Amino acid sequence: MPKRILHIHAHPDDAEIFSGGTLALLAAAGHHVTIATMTPGDCGSHHHDAEEIARIRRQEAASAAALIGAKYLCAEFRDLSIFETDEARRRVTALLRRTQPDLVITAPPADYHCDHEVTSNLVRDACFAAPAPNYSTAELGHWEPLPAIPHLYFTDPAEGVDREGRAWKPHVVVNMESTLETKRAMLAAHQSQRVWLKEHHGMDDYLETMQEWSAKVGAYAGLAFGEGFRQYRIHPYPQSGLLEELLGAGLVKGL
Ligand SMILES: [Zn+2]
Repeated sequence: MPKRILHIHAHPDDAEIFSGGTLALLAAAGHHVTIATMTPGDCGSHHHDAEEIARIRRQEAASAAALIGAKYLCAEFRDLSIFETDEARRRVTALLRRTQPDLVITAPPADYHCDHEVTSNLVRDACFAAPAPNYSTAELGHWEPLPAIPHLYFTDPAEGVDREGRAWKPHVVVNMESTLETKRAMLAAHQSQRVWLKEHHGMDDYLETMQEWSAKVGAYAGLAFGEGFRQYRIHPYPQSGLLEELLGAGLVKGL
């Protein structure tokens, strides 16, 4: 039975950087994958104005998603302007109701970027709110409450460390040896970010950097390349390993 997977992270390219290989495996297994970003990456340029770079990056994100047959949605927050407000929590809850996910993957609670951290909290709380019928999102569209709280996983933070530089070890590592090339292709669809990451992050070649990170995460589980995830296993969120179940023990190694 195909499941619905929602990957909702802060910016265009985060899904591909942190989970591209895993999403490719899930899509190839017949599951319905939606990649959503909180913002269209409107501050990610030194050369284009906000609306222009947002338009470019929505297209890049949709092209990357299309490579694995996934849909792309943008929640239309703005970069560096995502806050935990009533309006924001309802907007994220509406997106969950619209996509009806069984499995949600989002940013980790501690990461280098404030948008990642706020996204993590908003998505965690929207997973709790989405099945509650009296938590209204009617102003944002007419979608049914979720039947239950979905399974929730966090991606790794950038470089696998929290803000103190401490290693954030994943619970599971997905083997992406077979999907490394797909992940590279998905990331390469984010053309505008190659320039941005070079100028703003001092990152010379983000495809090579991705591959180095993937090798570091893979090494936790004795794999050449991997993507790490932690499951949010706190009451009353579902605690069974749905990601492991969907991909199988051959592809997912528990740590
Ligand atoms: Zn980001």
